[in-house]
Amino acid sequence: MSSTIPATLIPGDGIGPEIVDATLAALDALGAPFEWDTQVAGLAGVQAAGDPLPPAVLDSIRRTRLALKGPLETPSGGGYRSSNVRLREEFQLYANLRPARTIVPGGRYDNIDLVVVRENLEGLYIGHEHYVKIADDPHAVAMATGVNTRAGCRRILDYAFQYAIANGRKKVSIVHKANIMKALTGVFLETGLQLYEEKYKGQVQVDTVIIDACAMKLVLDPWKFDVIVTTNLFGDIVSDLVAGLVGGLGMAPGANIGENAAIFEAVHGSAPDIAGQGKANPVALMLAAAMMLDHVGRQDLAARLRQAIDATLNVDQVRTGDLGGSASTPAFAKALVARI
Ligand code: NAD
Repeated sequence: MSSTIPATLIPGDGIGPEIVDATLAALDALGAPFEWDTQVAGLAGVQAAGDPLPPAVLDSIRRTRLALKGPLETPSGGGYRSSNVRLREEFQLYANLRPARTIVPGGRYDNIDLVVVRENLEGLYIGHEHYVKIADDPHAVAMATGVNTRAGCRRILDYAFQYAIANGRKKVSIVHKANIMKALTGVFLETGLQLYEEKYKGQVQVDTVIIDACAMKLVLDPWKFDVIVTTNLFGDIVSDLVAGLVGGLGMAPGANIGENAAIFEAVHGSAPDIAGQGKANPVALMLAAAMMLDHVGRQDLAARLRQAIDATLNVDQVRTGDLGGSASTPAFAKALVARI
């Protein structure tokens, strides 16, 4: 039996290829089992194949059901939809998992360890938008329609409760705005509380928090939170807030998970302002690779990768500019490989 695991690799745009190279160096040093099928998407996909999400990428992920992805830019003009949103829809990646843990202490917040579980396919985020023209103003009225289904809510809430229990977490906070958006986010809250009573009571605690209060509490006392589960748009915003608690986007990994495929990535984008300069922090993508190792049952390698990241940052004090250091991306990768 082959011990390799086929996986799709998308280097991505901007800083993507730089952080992917650094992450591959770490995975190679670990002897990670992935057998990569490299594919281009985003701006690189438009340049190579005239499409930000060429069919070859989709075919590859259909086959491997597993991908590590650099950030993708959606070309402006040309009417392209976001490749990230298309990938989530195509593979029904309904759960977006964004853990945030303090690795470099001494910032404004220490000992943060929480996870945002974001619904990834529904809500106001899905882009059902249009304008209404009145007189000579084509943008006189702007409208957006959000859609949350009972089934979609149940699926993500189930995922969050199960994740919390499987990972020894104590509490799940259901974050909503049901006081104002009574239907759209009311159905999320109602389904969450029903599901808890039905299946999870006694196994984990639950509480409910309104999104605006949640934002304030995350800044004042983030240690009160453990697992946050919320709808798509709130999850998009809250997960960046939470990334800020642990040192910024360079430290924030994410996973998009469905029944039939999973795609691992950094939360950040292609950072065009620093692309090609060797300044990018590869830790977020490396932590995403650790999540990917957990996903395929190689918790041993995931733990070694996380320990090497920790030691490189804190014992060797090798850090990129966003963390106040002066290491280049390749220098960070080299120091990290020496720790594996
Ligand atoms: P961004 O995340 O690329 O950058 C925001 C800021 O954070 C910039 O100052 C950047 O230099 C910094 N930054 C980001 N990652 C960093 C890292 N690893 N190390 C050091 N600094 C880092 O956000 P943006 O500028 O709004 O978006 C740029 C492009 O990326 C856009 O085209 C956007 O659509 C795309 N994007 C893609 C994804 C994805 O593929 N998942 C996510 C977000 C944005």
